[in-house]
Amino acid sequence: MHTSIEYLKGVGPQKAEILKSELNIFIYKDLIQLYPFKYIDKSKITGIRDIEVDSPNVQLRGRLTDIKAIGAKQAKRLSAILIDETGALELIWFKNYQYIFKSLKEGGIYTVYGKVTEFNGKLNISHPEIKLYEPADDSKGLVFEPVYPLTEKLKSRFMDSRYILSLVNQVMKSPQFDVEEYIPESVTKPLKLINRKAAIYHIHLPSSEKAQQAAVRRIKFDEMFTLAMRSEKSRVVRLLEKKGILMGQPGKLFNRFFHEHLKFELTDAQKRVIREIKEDVKSGKQMNRLLQGDVGSGKTIVALFCMLMSIDNGYQACMMAPTEILATQHYLTLKDLMEGLPVNLELLTGSTSKKKRVEILEALKEGTIHILIGTHALIEGDVEFRSLGLSVIDEQHRFGVAQRAKLWNKTEHKKPHVLVMTATPIPRTLAMTIHGELDVSVIDELPKDRKPVKTVHRVERLRAEVMEFLRQQVTLGRQVYIVYPLIEESKKLELNDLMNGYDTVTDFFPVPKYQISLLHGRLKPDIKDFEMKRFKNGITNIMISTTVIEVGVNVPNASVMLIENANRFGLSQLHQLRGRVGRGAEQSYCILMTRDEMNFASKKRIRTMCKTNNGFEISQADLELRGPGDVLGTRQSGLPDFKLLDLVTDDEIIDLAKRAAAFILKNDPNLALPENQALLNYLKQHQEDHFWGNVS
Ligand code: ADP
Ligand code: MG
Repeated sequence: MHTSIEYLKGVGPQKAEILKSELNIFIYKDLIQLYPFKYIDKSKITGIRDIEVDSPNVQLRGRLTDIKAIGAKQAKRLSAILIDETGALELIWFKNYQYIFKSLKEGGIYTVYGKVTEFNGKLNISHPEIKLYEPADDSKGLVFEPVYPLTEKLKSRFMDSRYILSLVNQVMKSPQFDVEEYIPESVTKPLKLINRKAAIYHIHLPSSEKAQQAAVRRIKFDEMFTLAMRSEKSRVVRLLEKKGILMGQPGKLFNRFFHEHLKFELTDAQKRVIREIKEDVKSGKQMNRLLQGDVGSGKTIVALFCMLMSIDNGYQACMMAPTEILATQHYLTLKDLMEGLPVNLELLTGSTSKKKRVEILEALKEGTIHILIGTHALIEGDVEFRSLGLSVIDEQHRFGVAQRAKLWNKTEHKKPHVLVMTATPIPRTLAMTIHGELDVSVIDELPKDRKPVKTVHRVERLRAEVMEFLRQQVTLGRQVYIVYPLIEESKKLELNDLMNGYDTVTDFFPVPKYQISLLHGRLKPDIKDFEMKRFKNGITNIMISTTVIEVGVNVPNASVMLIENANRFGLSQLHQLRGRVGRGAEQSYCILMTRDEMNFASKKRIRTMCKTNNGFEISQADLELRGPGDVLGTRQSGLPDFKLLDLVTDDEIIDLAKRAAAFILKNDPNLALPENQALLNYLKQHQEDHFWGNVS
């Protein structure tokens, strides 16, 4: 199976090159793992009379007549009429039509496959798959013809699905065709999984729909199962070997804060999550927990309770945030909340002065600092705690796995408990897949006093009206955010946009009658601080900013979020930004400004935002638009690109695979049993060696 594809008939050096560069196919094994994404059911021929608009996969058969080029220069195209016993239908080609023209035979019987569309009140198929019908084909018994995901380049060299199938067929007929079974029978039997070799065969050449489904199920299972083995393994290791810090009971600080300092009633969800964490930290095992909660659901206060628990039990705690603004804000918020409690809190970021830094590091080692808040400055090598008991990581999607791991090693003794907080609300199974080694808690409820933010879409024409609305709000004493997109590649452009925007805004809101803050990534940290504070303290009415304020910023009196060029933002970003308002008791508004014209995806994003405030629905729409790889940043998190498995819809298989992995490792944590050797070898070959190699 490691033979080079050049040994196959029909693959010369040039075609081999294309297969390699376009599809990453080098050897036989790669080839059989190019899975079809659909099949043409060759047994099913539809009569032209019976077709409907927008039916995606119809197969027709009839005589091709009237093949001719029509239309003037620009709009030139090829047209032909297909006639069967029930009716006639036009076929159209816009591209490559000269070549197609030459290849079609007037009067020939063709099998045609494609999507039916309606144009000027008439049905047609443009760019159908078309093939001269040969009755002999029928007897070959191929009912489902696979269609492979091919690139334009392949298509232009006539390397089509049939070509790929001919190669796959050669491999599957050759004596080398071998697909090793590595999942033990203890799993495949009860789950009724067909074996791998059969799965590969039937995914390319299914004898029936049922066979094809069984093949897909097996291959999807494999994709999840190997991943699940890996995360289950690290979980098992963590639970078996890594003793956690014992935090027996919440104590004085926890209770005092709860009874004397908390200004609101916790939501049921917050209480439940705190309970889950309590159970974890007194279990004697190391906690590694993901806390999911929509923006504004009150994750910070939950983190604070946990940090107090840590201090009550004689340990320090730290909290890491992705930006300096956010870290500073957490610091100020927590300091304020704990006013009067004997808790020593410090802030460490990239812009902490050298002198202060030295002081902090000293005090940390002595243990006189109880809580340290900061940016990734916390994970630098010389930051050492006397006894770190809990690390909280806020808005975790900004941090990679490697950075998280660094935090664990901040202390000599046992590993601290880890609480990772994220506002990317994704389905629970999906979360557990991606963060396989984490336990998951969810805050699925917003504080009761929240009024949903009213979201509207406005185009540039209505600018004056929008500004007038802002003025009304400012007059009522509310504060306003105006946000401009941040474009990574061209910081200059971004700054120009922002400064032009600033000019526009000051035209409407002349200084000094109105006070305006300006915030962007290039400002010095102390200036950022200053601007943020002025806004937070209500000195400025309007905050003009780039997306530096996207995450976590909390100014409850701000009630309007105006997003400029909203079409340039992604959905989760828009949702995060909107989450900056609606935090106080006042009705809040989010205004999405765009030009009149937008592409499909932008329209869909804007429409979704106007329709719902629910983070779960938004991330669902985002998943549909962009796919999980982009939404969750899974590439950087090390999640493989699945070929067949759909993280969004395949939750049943995901669940089965996870349970199978847990079952195997429960009985045989080191994969030492004879029946698990094939599995162990497979994992060793396909995952990091050390991971499966050095088990004690
Ligand atoms: P996020 O989950 O987005 O990080 P925060 O922790 O910043 O949300 O909380 C948002 C706001 O809601 C804060 O001002 C916080 O004090 C407030 N808050 C948190 N929990 C409650 C609650 N149970 N009732 C009322 N307000 C709450
Ligand atoms: Mg937050």
